Amino acid sequence: MMSAVRRSMLCLCALAIAAPAHAAWLSRAVDGIMGTRIFVELWSEDDAQSRQRGEQAIDAVMDEMRHIDETMSVYKPTSEISRVNDLAAKQPVKISHELFQLLTTALEYSRITEGAFDITYASVGYMYDFRERKRPTEEEIQAALPAINYRHVLLDAASSSVRFSQPGVRIDLGGIAKGFSVDQGIEILLARGYKHALVNAGGDSRVIGDRFGKPWIIGIRHPDHPDQIITRVPLTDSAFSTSGDYERYFDEGGVRYHHIIDPHTGHSASKVRSATVIAPTATRTDGLSKTAFVLGPDEAIRIYNSLPDVDAILVALDGRILYTKGLEPPH
Ligand code: ADP
Ligand code: MG
Repeated sequence: MMSAVRRSMLCLCALAIAAPAHAAWLSRAVDGIMGTRIFVELWSEDDAQSRQRGEQAIDAVMDEMRHIDETMSVYKPTSEISRVNDLAAKQPVKISHELFQLLTTALEYSRITEGAFDITYASVGYMYDFRERKRPTEEEIQAALPAINYRHVLLDAASSSVRFSQPGVRIDLGGIAKGFSVDQGIEILLARGYKHALVNAGGDSRVIGDRFGKPWIIGIRHPDHPDQIITRVPLTDSAFSTSGDYERYFDEGGVRYHHIIDPHTGHSASKVRSATVIAPTATRTDGLSKTAFVLGPDEAIRIYNSLPDVDAILVALDGRILYTKGLEPPH
């Protein structure tokens, strides 16, 4: 029995143990929120009232996801983040507490990852369109590159406002908003008393509890063969994010142009094929999963190993699978 978490990338393999008849898994997948598919699954008593409560809990998670999408998507001209991008180089922009907190967190991840995670990547990143096979010229990259630097984002807690220190700066939360939304979804389910659940948004997932007394199992796919699982990891009460160079990309002249951008060069960051990070929250795993692409496996593993609550599995350019010190390779 298998439930697809991210069809092209990861699978959570439920263990084939018969469930007691008085309870059941409720699940729902909704496409088109945050540019991806949202999947929620929870373990509920199997009577009409409990099932209704479960459906309402899933509604609440989906509503929260839609709200975050409305606020944080640069593709929505009316979003709060679009307003920030339009105005913050000219004047301080007052923002919601929620956005202020997430920007604060994003800047923390820039520091933790020594600049590899940087929401101002968008100062160059907005010129790429992977679906349209569009990329900036070298001149356009060089002209926009000085605007990439998370230190250009100035937050003022007293006025709950954000300002950019120079023109040309753009921010994009595509590298952390999905993880954040997964955590918000999990908080909703925890507050309603659910003890076994999964929330997934694109590459970002988090589970509450276990599955029938056994850990959830995440499968990590082969970068070139979506149906091939190259390793499996057991998890309970954890979040995990996978970033891959095969998610949004096009190939041209033997080069793969994909959606993770090196803040130092403005080019796609290609020092690993995929990175899966495991930690207590999905905001944390999302904030850390891009690092290996930018810094390479050795530097990334040094950073991950310095964080006691973080583990990672990297697929190197030569296909080797590398683990942080907390993970024993499966035998
Ligand atoms: P997913 O969107 O499937 O969760 P990732 O977690 O790998 O995939 O995030 C990739 C996204 O992160 C990109 O589409 C882009 O919006 C954003 N991004 C790209 N490069 C960086 C970077 N250096 N720092 C922060 N965010 C980035
Ligand atoms: Mg992500």
